[in-house]
Amino acid sequence: MISFEGVTKIYPDGRTAVAGLSFEVQRGEFFVLIGPSGCGKTTVLKMINRLIETSGGRIAIDGRPIGDYKLNELRWNIGYVLQQIALFPHMSIAENVAVVPELMKTPHEETDKRVERLLRMVGLEPDVYRDKNPAELSGGQQQRVGVVRALAADPDILLMDEPFSALDPVTREKLQNDLLDLQRDIHKTIVFVTHDMREALKLGDRICLMNEGEIVQIGTPAEIVHRPANDFVREFLGDAGAGGGRSGLPELTAEDLAELLQPDSRLMNDGAVTIAGSTAVSELLRHFAAEERLLVRRGDDVIGLLDRERTLKRLAREFEEGGEA
Ligand code: ADP
Ligand code: MG
Repeated sequence: MISFEGVTKIYPDGRTAVAGLSFEVQRGEFFVLIGPSGCGKTTVLKMINRLIETSGGRIAIDGRPIGDYKLNELRWNIGYVLQQIALFPHMSIAENVAVVPELMKTPHEETDKRVERLLRMVGLEPDVYRDKNPAELSGGQQQRVGVVRALAADPDILLMDEPFSALDPVTREKLQNDLLDLQRDIHKTIVFVTHDMREALKLGDRICLMNEGEIVQIGTPAEIVHRPANDFVREFLGDAGAGGGRSGLPELTAEDLAELLQPDSRLMNDGAVTIAGSTAVSELLRHFAAEERLLVRRGDDVIGLLDRERTLKRLAREFEEGGEA
């Protein structure tokens, strides 16, 4: 768990980039920071791994102030993905992703296994890509390697600063989907920065909208869309919030279908697929193409179960009633 308590950042030139931020990111949560350029998103991210020191307030990880951790210990536990990841050009993909595990003296076998699994999970067949050089990969493939590299040391926390912003829309969409799939498996605590509301609504368990170094609203995608706190939120939403309407699907999330939820401890121990409570209907349908049942998660807790047949029946009813939930 990451907690901010009254955190400020005043740069040496006197500019207040972050003004008294307080919020918590739960373990296993996909937390999205969004806001206009210059609102302080990158500053917030870099304060978490101490690339930037705070000017005031307190940041803690699992209840312990970040200043109490050894810097290496802190950084190794926090993966970091940037918009333009810089792979070492003279090293193979495998060598690039194993840099931190090497520093940590993780046994090679363990690293190899984890890296293979991660490469596969982001759609890069290890046998094909392991020995390639970064220059042989497309931009999208390089970003995938960046994600694998950030996860290679098996950190608890993953910080991502506009990781897909430089990619074309099709590649970007693919990487978003792969990241969601990956997160279903690995359950990291993710703080993801973007300035794209569509991306935020699609990925986030919760979204934190910032402006001029302050928090404007924190909420689930459904809360942000249906209960924007003020005109700034509404304006920032633009037509992104109309996503559900645009596709003709009811604007419901997995949690909204709560009447169907029945926790089932057998399934939980069975490695069943879990999805975030904020998952939109369009995403649900994608899952039900492959899964009979889905476990619904809030933060780290499983709060219930969605059954394909009953969910689809409920949605059919929704359509008949004109989509008015
Ligand atoms: P974002 O990532 O949301 O675009 P940043 O966190 O990069 O915003 O920047 C927040 C504010 O702090 C901006 O006004 C920016 O100009 C300023 N800023 C960022 N880095 C520095 C720095 N090293 N020195 C002075 N001001 C900075
Ligand atoms: Mg930034």
